[in-house]
Amino acid sequence: MSERDSNSSETTNTLGTVVVGGGLSAAHCVHALREGGYTLPITLIASENEVPYERPPLSKELLQGKKSESELAPFPASWYAEANIDLRLSVEAESIDVSGQNVILSDSSTVGYQHLVLATGCRSRLGGPESKMPGWDLPGVLSLRSLEDSKNLRERLVAGKHLVIVGSGWIGMEVAASALSAGIEVTVLTPGQIPLATAMGSEFGSHVAQLHTNEGVKFQFGSAVSGMSIDARGGLLVETATGGVQADLVLLAIGAVPNTELAVAAGLSVGSGVLVDQQLRSSDKNILAIGDVAEAYNTRLGRSLRVEHWDNAIRQGKLAAATILGRSESYDWLPYFFTDQFDLGMEYVGDRAADDEAVVRGDMLKGEFIIFWLRTGVITAAMNVNIWDVNDHLRDMIGTEVAVERLQDSSNDLFAL
Ligand SMILES: Cc1cc2nc3c(=O)[nH]c(=O)nc-3n(C[C@H](O)[C@H](O)[C@H](O)COP(=O)(O)OP(=O)(O)OC[C@H]3O[C@@H](n4cnc5c(N)ncnc54)[C@H](O)[C@@H]3O)c2cc1C
Repeated sequence: MSERDSNSSETTNTLGTVVVGGGLSAAHCVHALREGGYTLPITLIASENEVPYERPPLSKELLQGKKSESELAPFPASWYAEANIDLRLSVEAESIDVSGQNVILSDSSTVGYQHLVLATGCRSRLGGPESKMPGWDLPGVLSLRSLEDSKNLRERLVAGKHLVIVGSGWIGMEVAASALSAGIEVTVLTPGQIPLATAMGSEFGSHVAQLHTNEGVKFQFGSAVSGMSIDARGGLLVETATGGVQADLVLLAIGAVPNTELAVAAGLSVGSGVLVDQQLRSSDKNILAIGDVAEAYNTRLGRSLRVEHWDNAIRQGKLAAATILGRSESYDWLPYFFTDQFDLGMEYVGDRAADDEAVVRGDMLKGEFIIFWLRTGVITAAMNVNIWDVNDHLRDMIGTEVAVERLQDSSNDLFAL
């Protein structure tokens, strides 16, 4: 790890690789480069003051006290030093000089590159500039993206307090489960009628809603939040069209926004993320983008997509390294992700569209089932809930045709389908 003084204006690392963003995809990229025999200089620019870490536990095990901070890093701090990675923490890349192949940093230093990898991830969508929700910056109104956010939330999860969660996506529902387990009263406000319905359809969403309701989470469906304010008792009031809900603590879990500003300012092509080809190269051949910030062309799906999931961040980190090392590998895998809420564990694989037909196999009441999604008879995606060691097989089933009756009937051996 190198230390720079704050007003340094030196130029370093010409002709090596610079990775911007100290998250999971960045960590796996630099790791795979060294594992692949890359001997040129590598600089990792990370705006957080943390060695790169995994975010999934931030809404689950870390909040529940089942994991500690020290267990979050995929590679220990010592590895970066041993691998001769110039890891610069608490420094932001402010701009890219594309023609000069330099990155200008917030400490006024400049880093030259042969290859630049943008791994800047996402930030929480807040109520401010992005959604114009008054009161988003009041004390006690929180969001969850970083380790610091998770520690801040955990400290405030004191039994007996009332947490209002705005949004019923993955992070909202995971925090609801973690907070309730800590003895917090939890209310989820959401404009829709079924949590996770957009992401996963009504079958799974309704199951999750029932599970949370049974555990004691309260929902107010059809509640579009217009803002937060301080009420007469000095607590928080979350305002909706039908009135307001009092809270001690509010979590805004209303999605994430990709950090594309560097790429836009550098003149790179940007769609829903930084547009990259199947080898993760942007419109500038020396610049790649990976992880949550990248909208990448997937050769198996035949289209570009941006994926905000753990598995994708790891795989794209490794693929970018392969591209830099001159290997001709492609982005050809299916999206995969997982969640844990109460005693529900789930894995999903595939590329479900909103109007795909859902076919359930197993016992939803018992909480052990698989959902397949089909488009014109062909399996597009599948999800296993509390049934384990089947996801690799489900992955192999994507793209195949199996009669609906055979999929539904659990007496048919899954591995023979
Ligand atoms: C609370 C939470 C729970 C999650 N749970 C799951 C889960 O259960 N399953 C799942 O599949 N996925 C989950 N995810 C998603 C998964 O963590 C992300 O897909 C993954 O972290 C993406 O990695 P990344 O490297 O692209 O970006 P990030 O991990 O977001 O890292 C990007 C980093 O770049 C830094 N950065 C940004 N701009 C600059 C700049 N200009 N200069 C320097 N640094 C910069 C950011 O501060 C950040 O540290 C979860 C995410 C969160 C937040």
